[in-house]
Amino acid sequence: MNSKTIGHPEILKNLNKYQMLNLIREDGPLSRTEIARQTRLGWGTITKYAAELLDEQAILETFEKANKGQGRRAKKLTVNPDKGWIVGVELGSYATRIIVVDFSGRIVYRTYLLTNSADGRQEVLETLSQRIAESIDKAGCSLDSIIGMCVGAVGQVDHTEGCVLKTANFSDFNDVPLRDYLSEEFRCPVYVEQAQLVITLGEMWRGGGKGVSDFICLTLGNGIGSGIVSMGRLLRPYPFKGIGDIGHLTIDKNGPQCTCGNKGCLEAVAGGAALLRQLRAISPDITFEKIESNPALQSSEIRRIIREAGVSIATALTSAIQIYHPEKVIVSGGLTKLGDPLMSPIQKEIEARLPIRKFDVSHLEITQLGDWAGALGAARFVWEETFTHKVEYV
Ligand SMILES: [Zn+2]
Repeated sequence: MNSKTIGHPEILKNLNKYQMLNLIREDGPLSRTEIARQTRLGWGTITKYAAELLDEQAILETFEKANKGQGRRAKKLTVNPDKGWIVGVELGSYATRIIVVDFSGRIVYRTYLLTNSADGRQEVLETLSQRIAESIDKAGCSLDSIIGMCVGAVGQVDHTEGCVLKTANFSDFNDVPLRDYLSEEFRCPVYVEQAQLVITLGEMWRGGGKGVSDFICLTLGNGIGSGIVSMGRLLRPYPFKGIGDIGHLTIDKNGPQCTCGNKGCLEAVAGGAALLRQLRAISPDITFEKIESNPALQSSEIRRIIREAGVSIATALTSAIQIYHPEKVIVSGGLTKLGDPLMSPIQKEIEARLPIRKFDVSHLEITQLGDWAGALGAARFVWEETFTHKVEYV
């Protein structure tokens, strides 16, 4: 458990208070009686925290119409959407997505841009900063009302220093003090996290992982990332220590060299970059989008390469399922654009390798959030860091 959450009475008090705020945010409007029913908080505590949150203008009191035959109108508590705004960013090597959410968690603005990772660090940083400023402006909020921002970045990230250590596919984006750069620009708390962590948090909050206590979130992009939620907790690795890193499970002991130093990792065999290399040996101009939109490009050889990638992904997933026993596997990322030629072999292979009592393959699903899980999860991360400290290390 995060040491910040242990013991200290003031922190425990705030945790209970913000547990109540969080409940009102996610499930409100709620009456005090409904809050008592859904929490273990006593009536006196609820009344006290409600008064404090009303005083801080974090929540508002509304009056709902009385039911027929009932004289009194019900008083309900709802979150005040204008209390402050949060910026969530996913910085990918290909695309960057930015969203601004209000205090109730509603998306008020979102935008997408190509990352131009070949431009060099200064260009990337300046463009990112400029587009975040534009987004805040277009969302209609002022800089001093921003509660915080979080960037989920690809590559190796040291979140304790807010630094991107190393990013493959960028021409020059190593040891970048991203937190310090953005804090200087925006004068608000800034968090820098691994992209996969915020993608998984996004799925937990608004995607297929909502209410699911055990799931794996697998991102099939240039590389292969994964996040694990076990017994309702998002497993958050300490810097330099991966956890549940499915992309680096060894699939072929004599396979190609992986960027991590090992040989034959899933990512080196079936990640987007590896797959595209194999496909371009047959058809030099091929892209994943072209395969999807042009059936003529789906030659038997191309289909075979994609099918084999699917089998490799399923082989690694089978091991991960044996370890974590997820109820669901949520798949996202650019490779999902390949559709059935990739997804069908994954399903069939898992079905062949695991009995249904271990994993029901109908619970392998494509994300409902498109490409927005990361930016959403980044916004959620700021909320958790500010109020609940629920994203713990394991
Ligand atoms: Zn590896």
